[in-house]
Amino acid sequence: MSGAVEAPLVSGPQPLVEYLIARQGVPARRGLAYDYVVAGDGVFLAAENELLSVRVPVARARLRGLSPAYAECSLKHGRLRFQLWEQILAVARDLGAAGNEVLVAIEHDTRTGYRLCLPRQVVGPTHVTYVPGSDGAVVLELHSHHRYPARFSATDDADEQRLCLYGVVGRLNDARPHVALRAGAYGHFLPVPWETVFAGGPAACAAIWDSYYDLAAGDRDDPQCRNGEADGGSKAEEATYGDEELELAGDANEASGNGAP
Ligand SMILES: [Zn+2]
Repeated sequence: MSGAVEAPLVSGPQPLVEYLIARQGVPARRGLAYDYVVAGDGVFLAAENELLSVRVPVARARLRGLSPAYAECSLKHGRLRFQLWEQILAVARDLGAAGNEVLVAIEHDTRTGYRLCLPRQVVGPTHVTYVPGSDGAVVLELHSHHRYPARFSATDDADEQRLCLYGVVGRLNDARPHVALRAGAYGHFLPVPWETVFAGGPAACAAIWDSYYDLAAGDRDDPQCRNGEADGGSKAEEATYGDEELELAGDANEASGNGAP
């Protein structure tokens, strides 16, 4: 043993990362980037920005004498309009019809609210290479697996390391397209139901297949869920068929042919 002690992550008087103990309720946020919270129901990573506030489980445990923290994911500006979900599906189906994946983002502007964006990207049947949006401006980043199940791959895990909501859609030609959504916080993930993120009544929920909450046996063995090499800002999932690339840039609504409010 070297006896070396890893230096704490500090930046001036306020630490970059703080370590909190939930002795009587969940302590207030303190770290500049995030906090680790040791609580009665385990260890959590707590983080927030202008758009999101999350408490994501890092390790489940039962610690006697401490308050429970519970997992949490809240959108500070409310849920996304159902029309945005319809626009996402329209873009994914447009590109999926040619057998290509695509990545879309939902940004927030204090003046105009949420809007759908199509980041500059190169798409292919099993990968998307894209330019990520600036930190804190994007509330949701979602990509398509077109005809394959909506499952996050290890490539997706490696790419999706910021504080953001992440999503994947698949089985786009099924009567109920598949979707999986999760809150991501610096490499830790919390699955969230579709209706936590999108506003829509029971009919809207019944029209989608939530891969986390309506689990389908057999989906786990799909090749799209196995992984290629992780590469920052790219999703290069295992190629099992032809791979022609297409470069996209500009407004998502142009790609979908669907006017935006
Ligand atoms: Zn993926």
